[in-house]
Amino acid sequence: MTTVDITVDKDRCVGSATCVVVAAGSFVLDEHDRSEPTSQAGSDLDGVEQAEQLCPTAAIRVVRSG
Ligand code: SF4
Repeated sequence: MTTVDITVDKDRCVGSATCVVVAAGSFVLDEHDRSEPTSQAGSDLDGVEQAEQLCPTAAIRVVRSG
């Protein structure tokens, strides 16, 4: 079974909210305007991968294994 690990490097994130718009429901901004994946993130891989590509600082990492 394929598992997917979705992470956001908060040190790189600049809070553009691109991921929040592109992959609605998969990312939220925390109280410091830094993105983090939600528990729903794995259910919209296409959106998450699009967000990974569009993130202006390459803060999102999507790693598939298995
Ligand atoms: S698109 Fe990138 S920089 Fe913008 S909020 Fe998401 S993780 Fe942060």
